[in-house]
Amino acid sequence: MNTIAAISTPNAVGGIAMIRISGNHAIEAASHIFIPAGDTKITEMRGYTCSYGWIEDNGQRLDDVVLTLFRAPHSYTGEDTVEITCHGGLFLSKQILSLLYRNGCEPAGPGEFTKRAFLNGKLSLSQAEAVMDVIRADGAASLRQANLAKQGKLHERMFSISERLVDMMSAFAYWLDDAEEMPPELDRDTLLQELNSISSNLSQMSADYQNGRILRDGIRTVLLGRPNAGKSSVMNWLCGMQRSIVTEFAGTTRDVITEQVKIGEFTLLLSDTAGLRETDNAIETIGISQAYQALDTADFVLYVIDASVGMQPDDNEIIASCHDRPLLVIWNKTDLTDAAPPQMDVPVLTISALHADSFAPLEEELSKLFAGYAFSDQPSIMNERQNALIQRADARIQACCDLLRQDAELDMIYSDLEDAAQALREIDGSDVTDDVLDGVFSKFCVGK
Ligand code: GDP
Repeated sequence: MNTIAAISTPNAVGGIAMIRISGNHAIEAASHIFIPAGDTKITEMRGYTCSYGWIEDNGQRLDDVVLTLFRAPHSYTGEDTVEITCHGGLFLSKQILSLLYRNGCEPAGPGEFTKRAFLNGKLSLSQAEAVMDVIRADGAASLRQANLAKQGKLHERMFSISERLVDMMSAFAYWLDDAEEMPPELDRDTLLQELNSISSNLSQMSADYQNGRILRDGIRTVLLGRPNAGKSSVMNWLCGMQRSIVTEFAGTTRDVITEQVKIGEFTLLLSDTAGLRETDNAIETIGISQAYQALDTADFVLYVIDASVGMQPDDNEIIASCHDRPLLVIWNKTDLTDAAPPQMDVPVLTISALHADSFAPLEEELSKLFAGYAFSDQPSIMNERQNALIQRADARIQACCDLLRQDAELDMIYSDLEDAAQALREIDGSDVTDDVLDGVFSKFCVGK
């Protein structure tokens, strides 16, 4: 494989910068640009050792650096790897990188070091994905979950489930191979019990993921309400700035505007949408259809009502249609009226978006609405790719259970079992296509 190099520290000026090189020619390429202060040439260095020296370009010293050397297979990527730590100037680190390019290295793609670690068997795919989750973690709980997966705990959990499917398939293989007696594992009731237990494990993992996602990535929140109810003003109150356009004319918020707001321990991913109402205006109609799309994927609805106008039939209709997810009514513009909100079976927050300052009442409502959400102590799946595979495996297993309950011939469930096992293997990167790998690693930083 070619030798790759990249700056692994952020693309910004800092105290130090680190340039990583990995591949068969990593040590040789580095030896062309690094002059050790001591007597040991880097080609003679042992793995896991450092050398102090400087980088030279055509006899001119660029910087004093520390070089760390790892010899294959005992490195992050499993290949010979050199890390050069220099002063953190952007021009300087880019100069060193271009020197390496002139000495036979090639630019590393996003996540290419980690991809090589995966391809060289240093990490499973779920561990590789967890590396990025560790980097992105923005709280103690998400960091703990990411570390569990990075340490291979998710891999172990998936492996123990897929082993149970493999055992079943081995029993099938034995039986289909003309065994005289049916193996006891293939007794219908035993099979059904085992498959149900696997399915409930998988469903639990998917539910833990959904719960975890809300805490880890934020609550996808959509602000809905009739035009002029004060959605943009509520958004501005939450964001603390004039983010959405506020006007006195109905129907001015036409796009879905997204912001991230921290309210206590919760992060709201806010979409401010066009007011929901019938309209002939083409641009507004697009905004409204985007509002419905945002509603489709929302975890939470903030429904704004103008208290000075009162509750309208549309409000009731829209609130009723959101009932499958947590919803909080914001009874807004209370500075204009003393009217109390009507009795509703959803929680109501009474405010004036133009004058409210404290988030405490909102935080209290969020704590009640999301009280059941907590990170699981178990290693949990971490992204949509893994969740889709868990759901695929679970659907196949439930199809097996249906067939068994309908007294179908036993061998009819074999292909579903195989597909479920395949989906579980894909979580850890066995039998995955290049497209899947490209999709996973394209989300990484260059240099990781
Ligand atoms: P949207 O169409 O639902 O996004 O509504 P806007 O946020 O654009 O607000 C419509 C109008 O109501 C603007 O003139 C706002 O200044 C006004 N408004 C919003 N909230 C309040 C409030 O709490 N009190 C008062 N008096 N006016 C408000």
